[in-house]
Amino acid sequence: METVFLPDEAAAVQFARKWADCLTAPCVVYLLGDLGAGKTTFARGLLRGMGYDGAVKSPTYALVESYAFPDKTVHHFDLYRFSSPGEWDDAGLGELFASDSIGLIEWPQQGRGFVPAADLIFEFSVCGQGRNCTVSAQSETGKRSVDLWQN
Ligand code: ADP
Ligand code: MG
Repeated sequence: METVFLPDEAAAVQFARKWADCLTAPCVVYLLGDLGAGKTTFARGLLRGMGYDGAVKSPTYALVESYAFPDKTVHHFDLYRFSSPGEWDDAGLGELFASDSIGLIEWPQQGRGFVPAADLIFEFSVCGQGRNCTVSAQSETGKRSVDLWQN
């Protein structure tokens, strides 16, 4: 487990960009923290690092936004408003956790029982004007990513 202080949004984006080279599909990433803690900022920075230049919208209403790359697809979930279990199957959300997928999940607690276990957890919290981010690996896949990030 490692905690990094991110003094401003630029630092948060820079931090997230670096993870672009460290995550390999399949991988499930939980983004934890209160509203405004910096979860979507992390998703945006990560996608920038992967070469995506377009808008990264918070998928609060859509539940998921997907971004296709030549070698993988990133599915960015925000389950804050996820309520009915039927919605999970109706929207085909389970099928999005495929071998070539990286799942970034805000509010995974809201989808308990549906959302697969995490390989990596990023937990954000407000610290003064900036944010702290605690990274923890939850699987061998997650440990490999943390090793890549540290070296
Ligand atoms: P969440 O998705 O967790 O609700 P967001 O990523 O949307 O939060 O960020 C909320 C606000 O916090 C945004 O205005 C963003 O610019 C700002 N922010 C994100 N990370 C940092 C940081 N490390 N330091 C200062 N402000 C940040
Ligand atoms: Mg968000």
